[in-house]
Amino acid sequence: VSPRRIVASSDVEQSYIMIKPDGVQRGLVGEIISRFEKKGFLLKGLKLFQCPKELAQEHYKDLKERPFFPKLIDYITSGPVICMAWEGDGVVASARKLIGATNPLQAEPGTIRGDLAVQTGRNVVHGSDSPDNGKREIALWFKEGELAQWESVQTPWLIE
Ligand code: UDP
Ligand code: MG
Repeated sequence: VSPRRIVASSDVEQSYIMIKPDGVQRGLVGEIISRFEKKGFLLKGLKLFQCPKELAQEHYKDLKERPFFPKLIDYITSGPVICMAWEGDGVVASARKLIGATNPLQAEPGTIRGDLAVQTGRNVVHGSDSPDNGKREIALWFKEGELAQWESVQTPWLIE
């Protein structure tokens, strides 16, 4: 492994990806994780977690004036979610593409929402919308020590 690849995590782009309670209940956990794994991003954190109301409100605080906010908070806290931290150059924008449009009926086939969901209010997965929000959200959902520092043996076969 070349020294260039051993970069402190804080310097590398990260996205917070979350399988929402509908994705967990519908048995889509493996399928959704698999799409990010196969793409070639590096998994840094993963847990099944029952989200408290306050955390859901903080996570979605930019939407707090929207009419759907109370229903959104009920949805996100209605069952366990899968919290993930994924890492790699360009991971934030790429994950948004893999996830697809907010409204699953408008999401392209081949995307997670395009293939696996039909309603905005049950759109199975979250992905950070900017690298700054990636860091912010990972810090919000994960505690110190919950992220792994590791190198995948695949890296030299993914990144030249
Ligand atoms: N949402 C909703 N109704 C709306 C818009 C959004 O229920 O009209 C929910 C939906 O679950 C969405 C989340 O609020 O994923 C966050 O909205 P945002 O616009 O940030 O969409 P995203 O970034 O998830 O695509
Ligand atoms: Mg968003």
